[in-house]
Amino acid sequence: MDPTESNSNRVAAESGIVNLAPADQPTTIREIAERLFPAYTIDGGTAHLAGCTLEDRLFLRVRTHHAGKSVEFCLDDGGKELDPTLVGTLGMGRTIELKRPPVKADARITSLAERGKEMLVQQFPAKNPPEHVDLAAIWCKYAQGKVRFTAGGNMVDLPFSGWARILEPPAFVCPSTGVATFQLAATDDHKIVAAERIALCDETGRRMLDEDLVTCSATGRRVLAELTEVCPVSGKPVLRAAMVRCAMCGETVAPAAIEGGACRACRTLEPVGKNDPRLVRLLGEHPLMDRWRNWRMSETATVYILTAAGWFRKLLVVVDKESLQLRLLATGGRLLAGWHAIDPQQYNVILGE
Ligand SMILES: [Zn+2]
Repeated sequence: MDPTESNSNRVAAESGIVNLAPADQPTTIREIAERLFPAYTIDGGTAHLAGCTLEDRLFLRVRTHHAGKSVEFCLDDGGKELDPTLVGTLGMGRTIELKRPPVKADARITSLAERGKEMLVQQFPAKNPPEHVDLAAIWCKYAQGKVRFTAGGNMVDLPFSGWARILEPPAFVCPSTGVATFQLAATDDHKIVAAERIALCDETGRRMLDEDLVTCSATGRRVLAELTEVCPVSGKPVLRAAMVRCAMCGETVAPAAIEGGACRACRTLEPVGKNDPRLVRLLGEHPLMDRWRNWRMSETATVYILTAAGWFRKLLVVVDKESLQLRLLATGGRLLAGWHAIDPQQYNVILGE
């Protein structure tokens, strides 16, 4: 017979297995809640547990003192030896006895005990195995669940899990900003977010995520994006109410883009040949324009602005860049300043002059 097996059988016969639990681990859901909730604040909302389980997980402690040598170790439910640090962390050093195992686990305990004894006897000479082995099933509580935050007509769940004795409240990671926080708040557009990222719209006073506000380039105010337009000249957002109309092309732009009544695009018209691809495309769409000459051109994010000259008159054309639809047609005396807008009904008459 294998001497190891013989020793193992002998110690099994001498051992009783008690059920223990760490003396100071939380044992109720209420204790878990008390540990988690003080960590969080939710502005104008509430937090509660949305599902929480406290599962008893099995460990086996094996110890003996034999022939002047003390041996002690713990196995997890899978029969693997536990790091001694974890044994301390889980509070296995100070235990209370349970009247019965919290879950029925006779077969698991028996098989774990066999494994523990096998590991123990290997630490002693085959001729002199330990006479007495102290075996204990230690039951440690493992918590998992969700904290549910409710505010502003919305809710968000924060999952948690861990050993009950050392459970720490996890930080809420704001889904909109990625900020980890314990302070939550709801925006006026019903997002639950990191409170430190909430900002007020300077125009409406609405509570918003700071990232959802834009800075008006004309006034410096932080406002809802929907109150602004992007200036086609500067490319920057401007409060719609602060936009001004260019006296020449009629487009609305940021005040800073205007000088002497005209926008920067109108002030920077450059001579352009009829082979310029933009002009080729435009003349293809509006062939009557081909009669005009001395084209000068500029563009914004949304329109082409062109001027041309005839024998006696000058022409101003503002065209949508995408559709090539005319947005404005104006004429003026060739040697005079200023423009007269043309009624759309008269466009073809003017272009064909
Ligand atoms: Zn302009």
